[in-house]
Amino acid sequence: MSAGKLTFWGAAGQVTGSMHLLEACGARVLLDAGLFQGRRAETASLNANLPFDPRRIDAIVVSHAHIDHIGRLPLLVRQGYHGPIYATPATRDLCAVMLPDAAHVQESDAAFLARHGKKSPESEPLYNLADAIAVQDLIIGLPYHRVHYVRKNLAFEYTEAGHILGSASIEMRITEGGNHRLVFSGDIGRTGLPIIRDPEPPTGPIDTLIVESTYGDRDHESTATSADRLMEIVNRVAGRGGKILIPAFALGRVQELVYGLHQLVLANKVPAINIYVDSPLAVDATAVFRMHPEVFDRREQLLMTSDRVFDFPLLRYVKAVEDSKKLNTLNGPAIIIAASGMAESGRILHHLANHIADSRNCILFVGFQAENTLGRRLLDGAKQVKIFGEPHDVRAEIQSISGYSAHADRTELRAWVKALGGPVKRAFVVHGEAAPAAAMAQILKEEGVRDIVIPQLGESFEL
Ligand SMILES: [Zn+2]
Repeated sequence: MSAGKLTFWGAAGQVTGSMHLLEACGARVLLDAGLFQGRRAETASLNANLPFDPRRIDAIVVSHAHIDHIGRLPLLVRQGYHGPIYATPATRDLCAVMLPDAAHVQESDAAFLARHGKKSPESEPLYNLADAIAVQDLIIGLPYHRVHYVRKNLAFEYTEAGHILGSASIEMRITEGGNHRLVFSGDIGRTGLPIIRDPEPPTGPIDTLIVESTYGDRDHESTATSADRLMEIVNRVAGRGGKILIPAFALGRVQELVYGLHQLVLANKVPAINIYVDSPLAVDATAVFRMHPEVFDRREQLLMTSDRVFDFPLLRYVKAVEDSKKLNTLNGPAIIIAASGMAESGRILHHLANHIADSRNCILFVGFQAENTLGRRLLDGAKQVKIFGEPHDVRAEIQSISGYSAHADRTELRAWVKALGGPVKRAFVVHGEAAPAAAMAQILKEEGVRDIVIPQLGESFEL
């Protein structure tokens, strides 16, 4: 007898739009409700047209607060979803920051398209601020390892995924007419990240595994190597009087970088230069970090040795636009961290326009740069780029450190699978482009999983 049915409505054959529908015990439960990100031409209709009636969903369980995992929650609520949304307490509080920002992006993108005469049904904002706030009313914070029953025979609990603050893997038990254990990895983090705890894979036999594969085909630099390289770059660029511009995602990467820079300052390994975090969203996300020391790694140690983990004299948080503009007139060396992480939008663009032609400066990438982004063009060695439609010569030094990624690399994904311990009957590989997903399937095969599927968007499977 089938324990239920699973349908993949996102992050199937790609990395964004995470959303999987589980039908079991008479309930319809969504795992994640993420936004598709990337080129508008390819994502607009995927995002706008939900493949089911949200009023017929009974519960939503989200893994973590990245927009590609929660960004369609306001849309579901706008279209009539009114059931519970489960999240860890830190994820709940990050949603309160991330979703209003996503609504703001929706509205300003729509306004931009309208100004440029590109108004169409698909250029309408998916949702607004009121929808984003309405989500918050439905979220129920559930700590790690607290078993919760969605139905009499359908329970789940969260375990640490080690990816960003509050991130979780989801372990579900379907006990109607048998015993079926389903594990959804969420996004798996790295071991040894300073603030976030290490991943803690659920152990024991698994009937159905849904596992991410973002970096299934490559390894990152170690966190120690990354700190050494950061130190070397800061010293070298500051020594010649230059500025370091770091495009970074507001949630996760910024806080890890700030922590890493603070450690280097405390150890006198870098000169005392000012560090500016120029991102209102990063400022708000950092406030949520301060609220949740209970999920920090080695939390007592972290709080005792640096009670001001995210505040130190050289660090300035910049929120107001006028203050951001003032950074253009700074003299001498400084570090400026700003979103977006792929240099496609946000305040980093102004800083790049102002600093990219000066060979004393350095642009330092710390995250994944997708194809067709300004970040990727710079990394690929472009000599001239367009920013706000204007050509700029690239004379600044371009550097990249991979060790600040929040995603497990190939070796860490294998370690996570090994740590599951028990046999895995069937595995679905999600959240990866074709090559990494195939590499992840190979890892699973080598670890003894016989039945491995890389599902397509919209494909359904009986459990
Ligand atoms: Zn994520």
